[in-house]
Amino acid sequence: MTERHIVIVGGGFSGTALAVHLARRGAAGLRVTVIEPRPELARGVAYGTQDPAHRINVPASRMQLSAAEEGDFDRWFRASEAYHTDPDAQWQGGKVYPQRGQFGAYVAEQFARAAEHSPVRLAHVRDHAVALRNGGVVTASGAVYHADEVVLAISHPPPAVPKWLAKKLHHHAGLIANPWRSDALAAVKPQDSVAIIGTGLTMSDVVASLYRQGHRGSVVAFSRRGQLPRPNLSGDFPLWPLDYDLAQADTARGWLRRIRHEVALAAAQNLPWQLVLDDIRINGQRIWQRLSLAEQRRFLRHLRPWWDVHRYRIAPQVSAVIEQSQADGRLVVQAARLQQVSVEGKKIVLTLQTRGASSQEPRVDHLIVTTGPAHGALLESGALLQQLAADGVIQADPLGLGILVNAQSQTVNSNGEANAHLRVVGPAARGHFGELMGLPQVAEHAESVALQLLDSPPLPAHGRCPTSLKTY
Ligand SMILES: Cc1cc2nc3c(=O)[nH]c(=O)nc-3n(C[C@H](O)[C@H](O)[C@H](O)COP(=O)(O)OP(=O)(O)OC[C@H]3O[C@@H](n4cnc5c(N)ncnc54)[C@H](O)[C@@H]3O)c2cc1C
Repeated sequence: MTERHIVIVGGGFSGTALAVHLARRGAAGLRVTVIEPRPELARGVAYGTQDPAHRINVPASRMQLSAAEEGDFDRWFRASEAYHTDPDAQWQGGKVYPQRGQFGAYVAEQFARAAEHSPVRLAHVRDHAVALRNGGVVTASGAVYHADEVVLAISHPPPAVPKWLAKKLHHHAGLIANPWRSDALAAVKPQDSVAIIGTGLTMSDVVASLYRQGHRGSVVAFSRRGQLPRPNLSGDFPLWPLDYDLAQADTARGWLRRIRHEVALAAAQNLPWQLVLDDIRINGQRIWQRLSLAEQRRFLRHLRPWWDVHRYRIAPQVSAVIEQSQADGRLVVQAARLQQVSVEGKKIVLTLQTRGASSQEPRVDHLIVTTGPAHGALLESGALLQQLAADGVIQADPLGLGILVNAQSQTVNSNGEANAHLRVVGPAARGHFGELMGLPQVAEHAESVALQLLDSPPLPAHGRCPTSLKTY
């Protein structure tokens, strides 16, 4: 019997979760290879951090590989040594917010267990995929992995520094362009002054890390709206399920009105807005798919900054550091635009245009870019995606959120044809699906891609590997 071979490129959470689901549900005769350069699977950008200040931003009870396993990570963590050596993990109300690396360790353990017990042959190859050619995935070491199906699980490119800024600060030691590097903040001394571009989750991580390493100098964080991610709820509250069959305009404005109305109804019962937003997030994919492309664009242009700060919350431990730093006057968060930047000796001088006020010119030792992953540039972020895009095998989705796929997560080539041999798993598919970033939705997506792959009929021999547009 010929073995069917599925190659997954990228072993962050999405790729590893897909491999685990394939192993749990698949049968003998299936081989799954995850190509991932990191030594450990399931880490990726989010869970690869070793910094103890970086915590998951929802309680552990909401992080799992599948909805059917609710609470499994929470139980695993509470039984682990890490729980006993990290008293800060537990917050008021008893919920735990482990360090992010713990979730990576949990998923990696599920992979190891699946590899041991499944009839599916599961392997992690430590390498970097650089091309899809000659019937297989070509890696940086020169190996070729022939595949019946390939799944792209690459989601988060590093943040992009605006070109003009990079030019002005070329080689300046104070510019920290990628705060996700493990040594990114090592050069920041305790009394150094810091400016941060961005006021979202990555900024929060950076402020918490700086504080933990003993930094007590001034920090100014700015973004156009100066909005901070909102805190999570502590305590237990009832659900607030919306009626999604209720007639209403499927427009960005229509949904904004509806959410405001629901928040007012909840407030009348002394219930917090978070309950409404949580239900909207859970149902985010069906809402998104009811919007036309023009309305999706309108949402991204006008509402996304607001959605992001209400939907992506921060762990209470991180929130406490932010609040304390603001109260101490050490951290100032501003709504401002960066107009100019210059260098004076070792200092970086910023010209910030704040709303309705004259401009300010902070002189800082470090400028840290925390604008989040440059998803709009995903297709230029590595040799493999560049090659696939240049050959017309894949294309960006029209909203610039990731890779264009259909409802089965199959890539769509430049002629508009879907490719059953080349799929996408995880946040890079969110142009089609909508809400596909938080762990529960990504886990669900990985599970559904696994089921679709396993349900698809055996492939003809000539169907091996989507090498180029000409083949398919
Ligand atoms: C900083 C951060 C914190 C987050 N925190 C939370 C949280 O607390 N709670 C929550 O619910 N959600 C959180 N999320 C969201 C969520 O969990 C992630 O979106 C999810 O982990 C996506 O993982 P991924 O595997 O798709 O992508 P990535 O993390 O980008 O992983 C992709 C992997 O692919 C590998 N790779 C890239 N190119 C190649 C190649 N050519 N060949 C081989 N391998 C390659 C990379 O090495 C990487 O390991 C967070 C996201 C980020 C970015």
